Amino acid sequence: RGGWLNRLKQGLRRTGSSIAQVFTGTQIDDALYEDLEAALLVADAGVGATQFLLNDLKRRVKETRTTDPGAVKALLADALTDLLTPLQGTLKVDAQQPTVIMVAGVNGAGKTTTIGKLTRNLAEANCKVLLAAADTFRAAAREQLAVWADRNQVEIVSQEGGDPAAVCFDAISAGRARGCDVVIADTAGRLATQLHLMEELRKIHRSIGRAMPGAPHEVLLVVDGNTGQNALAQVKAFDTALGLTGLVVTKLDGTAKGGVLAAIALWGRERQARGLGAVPVYFIGVGESLADLQTFDAREFSQALLN
Ligand code: GDP
Repeated sequence: RGGWLNRLKQGLRRTGSSIAQVFTGTQIDDALYEDLEAALLVADAGVGATQFLLNDLKRRVKETRTTDPGAVKALLADALTDLLTPLQGTLKVDAQQPTVIMVAGVNGAGKTTTIGKLTRNLAEANCKVLLAAADTFRAAAREQLAVWADRNQVEIVSQEGGDPAAVCFDAISAGRARGCDVVIADTAGRLATQLHLMEELRKIHRSIGRAMPGAPHEVLLVVDGNTGQNALAQVKAFDTALGLTGLVVTKLDGTAKGGVLAAIALWGRERQARGLGAVPVYFIGVGESLADLQTFDAREFSQALLN
C-alpha cells in the first residue's frame, strides 16, 4: 500500500500544512482555535464542518485536560477520523444479477478512469462485465470506453449519436440475456447546461429501472476533490436529481482543498438524519494511473492530511 499512501500524504500536504502550522505554538488559547478555524476554511471544509470539528475538538481537549498544542493536533486527527468514518464503504456487486451501476460526473472529474479501474478489478475477479456507453454525443467518451472494454475483454453496448436512455435499456437487456454479473453505464457530463443534463440523467435512470426493476443498484458520482466546495455543490445537485448511493473523490494528490471530505461527511450525516441512506466514498483518486484509485480509509486520510 506504500506508494499511493505516500502520494496521498504528499498530495494532502498542501491542504494540511496550514492546519499543522496551527499547532506549532506553545499554548492552547483562543488564537489557536481562530487560526485553526481559518485553516479549515481555507482547506474548503466549509463553515458547517469547521464548526463541527472545532466543537468536537474543544470537547476532547477539555476531557483530556491536555496543555500541549501538539497533543491537540492528535485530538483533531481523532475528531476528523470519527467524522469521516461513516464515509467508508465497499462497493458490493454480487447481490443482483446483473448489478447495474450508473456512473455520473461532470467532464474531467475522472469518470472514465474510475470506470476503467472498476472494470479491471471486476474482470480480474472473474465477474462478467458489460459496459454501456451512454455518453453518446461525445465520440471521445465512447472511444475511451471502448478501449477499456477491449483491454479487459468485456462487452460494450455503444451507439453513435443514439439515445442514451435507449443505450442503457439495450445494455441491461443484453446483460440479463447474456448472464452478466455487472452492467456499468457511463453517462454524459456536460455541465454547461445543468438542467438539461440532470433531465437526461433522470431519463437514463428511469429507463434503467424499466429494463430491470430495482435497478440501478448503485448510482455513483465522481467528483474532482481539487474543486473543493464546488465538489460538494455537485454532490448535492446530483443527489437531488438522482439519489446517490456512492461517491468517488479524485485528484487528492496535490490539492489544497482536501478538507472538502469533511464537508461531504457532514452532508452525509445530515442526509442520514433525514432518514436517507449513507453515501459512502467507495474510492479516492491519488494520481493518474489506475493503481492510484484506492479505497477510502478515514484514519489514513486524517493522518495524511495532518502529517
Ligand atoms: P472524465 O472526463 O470524467 O471521464 O475524466 P477522465 O477519467 O478522463 O480524467 C480526466 C483527467 O484527470 C485525466 O487526465 C486523468 O488522468 C486525470 N485524473 C483522473 N483521476 C485523477 C487523480 O486522482 N489524480 C490526478 N492527478 N489526475 C487524475
